[in-house]
Amino acid sequence: MLHASKITERTQHFLDLEEQYGAHNYHPLPVVLNRGEGVFLWDVDGKRYYDFLSGYSAVNQGHCHPAIIRALIEQAQKLTLTSRAFHSDLLGEYAAFITDYFGYDKVLPMNTGVEAVETALKLCRRWGYMVKGIPENQAKIIVCANNFHGRTLNVVSFSTDPSSRTDFGPFMPGYEIIPYNNLPALEKALQDKNVAGFLVEPIQGEAGVMVPDEGYLSKARQYCEDANVLFIADEIQTGLARTGKMLCCDHENVRPDILILGKALSGGTLPVAAVLADDEIMLTIKPGEHGSTYGGNPLACKVAITALTVLKEENMAENAAAMGELLREELAALHSPYISTIRGKGLLNAIVIQHEHPEAAWDLCLALKDNGLLAKPTHGDKIRFAPPLLITAAQVREAVHIIGKSLETL
Ligand code: PLP
Repeated sequence: MLHASKITERTQHFLDLEEQYGAHNYHPLPVVLNRGEGVFLWDVDGKRYYDFLSGYSAVNQGHCHPAIIRALIEQAQKLTLTSRAFHSDLLGEYAAFITDYFGYDKVLPMNTGVEAVETALKLCRRWGYMVKGIPENQAKIIVCANNFHGRTLNVVSFSTDPSSRTDFGPFMPGYEIIPYNNLPALEKALQDKNVAGFLVEPIQGEAGVMVPDEGYLSKARQYCEDANVLFIADEIQTGLARTGKMLCCDHENVRPDILILGKALSGGTLPVAAVLADDEIMLTIKPGEHGSTYGGNPLACKVAITALTVLKEENMAENAAAMGELLREELAALHSPYISTIRGKGLLNAIVIQHEHPEAAWDLCLALKDNGLLAKPTHGDKIRFAPPLLITAAQVREAVHIIGKSLETL
């Protein structure tokens, strides 16, 4: 161990409770939080931290954004759930708002990100049979190696991560995995006439912020169009201003046939996800063929309208672009021998740690925590730096100072 983290008795109490009574399906940093505001979090001992994870990009608007919390409270006092057996006065308003915001005919509202991915995959297959004319049960969807689209059995069926798949089989057929950022592989896979869609993350976040070559998305989109195949963008992590544009696909002027959103659609307050598409695709699903009790509930609708409004009103995409550049510049200026790579777009960034000690990235995150910054390693040696999008230049500099100081402990 390169850094021994200090844990107070109070913190240990909460860690022990979780360890004893909660399933062990996560490995969190040993920090227990009970307050958040903007770019900051506080632990149960009152210590303040920069949040450099933002709930895996769910808190783009900053913790407890006043306008989002106001909308949440006001709507919670009026009406929270009708189910889709009845109408609410907010679903139509939200649907009109979000389809206008992103330029699609229709929205299908869901809750968690993976539900929205499942929805997109069902829509894609349905379109494949009803519109493209693929023979029954022959539809194929192309996906990329090292993807992360969530944790359901269907979605882990096309994961390449052993920790997502081991001992969870048998798996769902109908997927072909090709390398990410590889256009010849896509071109070849598209030769199969039974391909209905190509599902892709514009940047692979969980894989360690893998940014594809410039032109990859626009060419991939064109190849799909030429092959009469739906281009499906999972923007759950990359969308909503995170990468310096409203959507990461906007960097290449790509309009996905199916757009998947989640996470920051509620600014970190409750699970809200959405699938957007035009009528030719969306209207292939008829009443009773797909749904969710909570999907499109009035509380979620109100919060999502506000969360999207805040992103634009506060120019969060522009700030993410500028602060992302500054963050990468300042990180490079540390000239740390332990950072082999700095990459990212906007405020979705990662560093790769180079060190003989296999736990160096984890230990660095412990040191960061003790110095007042929270970040989490992914795949052993990568650390994502993705603060809320309202971070200021002075805060970026202070955070990089903390990172520099923590690197010295290695
Ligand atoms: N897709 C991407 C790109 C993600 O990053 C995630 C979550 O990290 C998901 C899907 C799944 O979202 P959720 O955890 O809300 O189900």
